Amino acid sequence: MRVADLPLAPEYVDHFAARGIEELYPPQAAAVEAGVCEGGNVVAAVPTASGKTFVAELALLTADGPGLYVCPLRALAREKFEEFDALPGVDAGISTGDYDSAASELAGKDVVVATSEKVDSAIRNGAEWVDDLACVVVDEVHLLGAEGRGPTLEVTLATLRREAPDVQVVALSATVANPADIADWLDAELVESTWRPVDLRVGIHAEDAVRFDDGTEQSVPVDTADPAASADTEVTAELVRGAVADGGQALAFVRSRREAEALADRLTDERLPTVVDGTGRPGGDGAGTADRDAGLDAAAVAEELREAGGTETGERLAEAAAWGVAFHHAGLSSDHRALVERAFRERRLAVICATPTLAAGVNVPARRVVVRDQQRYTGSGHEWLPVLEVHQMCGRAGRPHLDPYGEAVLVAADADERAELWDRYVTAGAEAVESKLRDPAALRTHTLALVASGFAASQAEVLDALAETFYASRTPNPDLGGVVGDAVASLVDDGLLTAGDDGGIAATPVGAQVSRQYVTPDTGVRIVEALRRVEAMAAEDVTELTAFEAICDTPDMVDTYLGNAERAAIYQFARTRSAELTTDMTATDDFEGWLESVKTARILAEWVEGASVEELVASYRIGPGDLESRIERAEWLLGAAEALAEELDVSMPALASARAKL
Ligand code: ADP
Repeated sequence: MRVADLPLAPEYVDHFAARGIEELYPPQAAAVEAGVCEGGNVVAAVPTASGKTFVAELALLTADGPGLYVCPLRALAREKFEEFDALPGVDAGISTGDYDSAASELAGKDVVVATSEKVDSAIRNGAEWVDDLACVVVDEVHLLGAEGRGPTLEVTLATLRREAPDVQVVALSATVANPADIADWLDAELVESTWRPVDLRVGIHAEDAVRFDDGTEQSVPVDTADPAASADTEVTAELVRGAVADGGQALAFVRSRREAEALADRLTDERLPTVVDGTGRPGGDGAGTADRDAGLDAAAVAEELREAGGTETGERLAEAAAWGVAFHHAGLSSDHRALVERAFRERRLAVICATPTLAAGVNVPARRVVVRDQQRYTGSGHEWLPVLEVHQMCGRAGRPHLDPYGEAVLVAADADERAELWDRYVTAGAEAVESKLRDPAALRTHTLALVASGFAASQAEVLDALAETFYASRTPNPDLGGVVGDAVASLVDDGLLTAGDDGGIAATPVGAQVSRQYVTPDTGVRIVEALRRVEAMAAEDVTELTAFEAICDTPDMVDTYLGNAERAAIYQFARTRSAELTTDMTATDDFEGWLESVKTARILAEWVEGASVEELVASYRIGPGDLESRIERAEWLLGAAEALAEELDVSMPALASARAKL
């Protein structure tokens, strides 16, 4: 099937031709046959890199009105926004929390790219642009099964479809066990395919050889005689070295940030082939390979990384990059992460050592993917990674137009483990997507939102609204009555809802504000308690630390790890500054959790007092990326606290002053 034969205006056909898209890939042709250009609902469950974006564009361009593209990750949203905005005559907008278009502008856009949280928030706040949508594309719809954001996605989609029954829904999924259930829910045609533009073979290394699923075996002998070397790391190094020597790039996945950095450090010893600035600086003996000629200019990448921020982590990253090696994890600043991803895509880095989060994120294809660790530490023990996650890592192997094939290799300790990994990850399909809506915290949030936004005025109406969810479509007898009843009762107890004698329920002004501010009910309750406490405190005791402690001790702030070594210091800090805190440390239910919040609050207070990223990173053993994510959340939560303070008529200028300094 040719693009020129589709019902698209000639300027679009030319636009796609200029990007090398003239003939449809098989899953794209199947989506067209399923009606994606005629307003039909379609679920496409296809592998990474099989051209899902083009399917989305077909739906958006042929729809009879504005479109919405729901994207789970902000890093991806920006990429998609740029891609849609480049379509001739298309005016795109974005709403993700950063780089946002003004809310009022979104109403006039042809396509809006937004996270599901932003769409949910827009619906709660009655945003006009939501009413006119003709088409909604949901990327990574398998995240319906994720705690927190899964329920948000299903309730949001259910609400959109209730309000606009004719809206076209196109959902794009990774290959999961039950895409038909998602299609059933959305009354959609299912397109299911395992076709990939580049062949992928998956194998397992054990006892000096990789055995692949295509029946081939490759000898990869590894010298692990050095007792100090860990065998799986040496195997990984050899697999990476082989791929790079062969003209490819590699991604190596390990279980933790620390392991990612340690592996990168180890790989710098490999002297991987890198082209340098001609001065003979790093580069080792790497024989002339295709990539070398294409310009793996590692020294320049190192320089760019240094320019993007001078933290100690950044310096170590730059040092590794000078050898063509990078590490990537959530502790890196977002600038550093983006630079690493881009440099890798431009083939200016030979290898990235990453935690699993990279696999779910941006587009970074490689010749070879090595999954060294298949387990992760959960705080109480080691746990196997979900099959879907490992498949997503493996799916990164094979760069279209560059690699003859992609290779993914799992590292096993011995033949027994190979057999176990083979069953678990090579022959097994990914898990089924299961709704997490029944989670009481999720139901509290969405019950409050449905009532506060005017979609439901009784428990029966809440249940009606939830009847359209994925959960209800998957469960023969959904019987949410009991849990929704509990949610309503607890929200009434918390003062967020009121219940009338006639069975009617309504949001209180505080409840409505909590919903509009997009904080969870528990966060709202905690902030209200803090504000009540502030009313009783001496004015001079209400400081920016007070503001930070109030918002950090909520479920909407990310936890900050508190090591044994710093516990005493934080405890001492909390005692010394107790007059400024809204919590009586002898009366808290979760003392350890609260102490962690005090640590976060202290970090933020020092930040607004002028401490540098480097100082905070060194003093509190957090990554620059951790600081960034906490600052961003603090901005949002302080804004919510200000709105609640106004609602309660509590004066707390520290909220605004702290926010202004973030
Ligand atoms: P994903 O399925 O992971 O979202 P993308 O939509 O990003 O994949 O597509 C992967 C790559 O394939 C992109 O570079 C895109 O331009 C290219 N591509 C998509 N469809 C076609 C096609 N029909 N012909 C040639 N290249 C295509």
